[in-house]
Amino acid sequence: MSVDIECVVVGAGVVGLAVARALARTGREVILVEAGEGIGVGISSRNSEVIHAGIYYPNGSLKAQLCVEGRQRLYAFCDERGVDYQRLGKLIVATDDHQRHALQVLLEQGRRNGVDDLQWLDAGQARALEPALSCIAALWSPSTGIIDSHALMLALQADTEACGTSIAFHTPLESARCTGHGFELHMGGAQPMTLSCRQLINCAGLSAPEVASRIEGLPAQHVPKAWLCKGSYFSFSGRAPFRHLVYPAPESAGLGVHMTLDLGGQARFGPDVEWVEQVDYRVDPRRSDSFYQAIRRYWPALPDDSLQPAYSGIRPKISGPSEPAADFVISGPDVHGVPGLVNLFGIESPGLTSCLALADRVVQILAAPHSL
Ligand SMILES: Cc1cc2nc3c(=O)[nH]c(=O)nc-3n(C[C@H](O)[C@H](O)[C@H](O)COP(=O)(O)OP(=O)(O)OC[C@H]3O[C@@H](n4cnc5c(N)ncnc54)[C@H](O)[C@@H]3O)c2cc1C
Repeated sequence: MSVDIECVVVGAGVVGLAVARALARTGREVILVEAGEGIGVGISSRNSEVIHAGIYYPNGSLKAQLCVEGRQRLYAFCDERGVDYQRLGKLIVATDDHQRHALQVLLEQGRRNGVDDLQWLDAGQARALEPALSCIAALWSPSTGIIDSHALMLALQADTEACGTSIAFHTPLESARCTGHGFELHMGGAQPMTLSCRQLINCAGLSAPEVASRIEGLPAQHVPKAWLCKGSYFSFSGRAPFRHLVYPAPESAGLGVHMTLDLGGQARFGPDVEWVEQVDYRVDPRRSDSFYQAIRRYWPALPDDSLQPAYSGIRPKISGPSEPAADFVISGPDVHGVPGLVNLFGIESPGLTSCLALADRVVQILAAPHSL
């Protein structure tokens, strides 16, 4: 079977859904193809569900711009569409002088990124907010929140379908060929088929580099190496110790083992950092030792035997353990020279927060003259 379509989006995670929605709202005819059995079966359902403020990312980076813009858009979208969220606020805590200095750097960086509501707290002010906390200083970020990410994806799906987009599940993109005026796509699954389209957007998350490497006509230097960086979570069995989110000063590959709350008020800790070769979501209970150590730096009263293995997620890194963290990459025709093609690489945190802003960037790139 062969089908002609204007625009194909690969991957029905939060980013692919937001991109399909944004493209469909411009009047384009869109098909969203997904290898799995439903929406959000990848990274989008294995994360902290935090709406980030935009503090951690280098000034001028796409992560900084799209997080600040995306966060504002996301809160407005949730209000409009009844997606459940709570603007709980977050404390980033320093437990020694080195971390106090790291917080000062973060405060300046966050303000330059446009996060204009950050406040410096001394130990007493932090403990007034969270009496169980042990720290020497903290940053207070009132605009950080938590979200029901599945409800968000359902709302994005409903919007895109209302604009006429079809979503094909169990439909992996196996290979593609640039034809000069678009793409010929070979889809696998139970009913293999060929699609042709004018625009192709690769939002395949962990598999985005692999999908891009199977596009004949895309020069190989425009496909980054994929690195997998696992983060495990442990749930806390007792009553949550804090009412706000609590993060330590950040580590190199992650944000440090932090405490988030779900919308039901249950506490969980994570994610840690483990570079892996393969996707394996099992949580090794032995990793809890390092959790107890990390958490007790800011919450000394953490009881023994109170953490249970919960779940894990894998960060779609495009920089390795010894390299500086890469920015989001939105690789369009201006970069690789193939008209109509956009690859999204390295969409790790804050990708959930940024999804609506990322989608707008894709639409802008495809509207530029060199994209046609
Ligand atoms: C541990 C962890 C914690 C995080 N915490 C946060 C947070 O608190 N806040 C935040 O803003 N961000 C967070 N993030 C980042 C956020 O979760 C991601 O940026 C976001 O979910 C990425 O969405 P995606 O749509 O790009 O990828 P995915 O959700 O993985 O979607 C990609 C989809 O593509 C499909 N696919 C793959 N190959 C093919 C193919 N060949 N054909 C068709 N379909 C294919 C997959 O099945 C999948 O459904 C976190 C990430 C991790 C790993």
